[in-house]
Amino acid sequence: MPQDTLKIPQATAKRLPLYYRFLKNLHSSGKQRVSSAELSEAVKVDSATIRRDFSYFGALGKKGYGYNVNYLLSFFRKTLDQDELTKVAIIGVGNLGTAFLHYNFLKNNNTKIEMAFDVDADKVGTRIGDVPIYHMDDMEELLRKEGVAVTILTVPAPVAQPITDRLVSADVKGILNFTPARLNVPASIRVHHIDLAVELQSLVYFLKHYPMQETLVEEPITE
Ligand code: ATP
Repeated sequence: MPQDTLKIPQATAKRLPLYYRFLKNLHSSGKQRVSSAELSEAVKVDSATIRRDFSYFGALGKKGYGYNVNYLLSFFRKTLDQDELTKVAIIGVGNLGTAFLHYNFLKNNNTKIEMAFDVDADKVGTRIGDVPIYHMDDMEELLRKEGVAVTILTVPAPVAQPITDRLVSADVKGILNFTPARLNVPASIRVHHIDLAVELQSLVYFLKHYPMQETLVEEPITE
């Protein structure tokens, strides 16, 4: 099995979780093989792209046979680190942060929200679900102690950059940024930016100007 995942192009890598989720469902319904046409219909990515993507995984579909579901699943599990649980922290327990705390990420992948941080005295010291909310003063120490390397940033935009600087100093490697702020980080840190207001505006714009567009999946804006 090819393990050199570094050679997978970024656009392909971004589709991995999509493929993985669908294949897991197929697997649990007892299916052993799947054609690129079936996959295409289900995940809304054209079949030429799927075939090209899968060739990077070393998965060679046979005409009239399709792809081996077990092989693909074990490849994805390894590539996406599904055998390992990734600990995540939420920074900022407002409306959005609270929604994430209620959402069960474990349903679809192996990430688990371990802790949350805020400055609001009414929130600090409480729990949402199983997740404790700590004060920002203790953030660096607790992130390091628990080995949390991924955070979701849901604080007000003006404090996003100074908090990001602190996250970098606490050895955080990945930040999912839900604030409208553009963040500066060293090259070794990965930031994915999801600006919900911009995404919504962009959807409305596309509906207005390209109502019949063929493209089925529009990539979210990430940086
Ligand atoms: P949302 O943007 O999630 O809808 P909201 O409107 O409920 O949030 P915001 O003012 O955006 O509230 O703040 C989000 C959360 O970030 C709040 O719980 C707030 O207490 C917290 N917060 C504000 N400043 C900081 C800070 N410097 N560090 C950590 N958390 C902060």
